[in-house]
Amino acid sequence: MTGPRARRPSRPEAAAELRRLWAPWRARYVRKAAGTGERCIFCFGALGAAARRRRLVLYAGPAALVMLNRYPYNNGHLLIAPRRHAASPELLTPADRGTLGEVLTASLAVLRRALKPAAFNLGANLGRSAGAGIADHFHWHVVPRWDGDTNFMTVTASTRVVSEHLAASFERLYLLFKTLNAALS
Ligand SMILES: [Zn+2]
Repeated sequence: MTGPRARRPSRPEAAAELRRLWAPWRARYVRKAAGTGERCIFCFGALGAAARRRRLVLYAGPAALVMLNRYPYNNGHLLIAPRRHAASPELLTPADRGTLGEVLTASLAVLRRALKPAAFNLGANLGRSAGAGIADHFHWHVVPRWDGDTNFMTVTASTRVVSEHLAASFERLYLLFKTLNAALS
């Protein structure tokens, strides 16, 4: 049986994976949701525990927020956004950009501790032509990586498996983000 760690990717596979990462098929689903009149997923007020779980919000400070991506490229795929509804970082205040950077850094530390990734992909798509699913509200993608993990979405191609991953990851990461809340706020 070949698992996700069974072999390292060859160069063509790595190239295909890069396309998948930054011009993903999942964006269609996000756009579909965004086009149904639902409000921006990054803009919300105070959330109770149940709403936080439903929305996969791990951290919501005054200037920045962290949530698990509902359409993950890999286990622990985070979205990190400013609280301000702005399409690009130059529209944020320097203070908000600074906080966003601190939250991004703290999130890397949490992921390293919780999931022990070998590496990360960090990136942002600014504008629809760049592949942004939610183009109006700037956000970083943080994708933990493990050696030989390129088959993750093939392995977890069913909605049931992905949602189980999400629920388990949320509980695990939420506890760690809780301890960081005071430092981040
Ligand atoms: Zn927004």
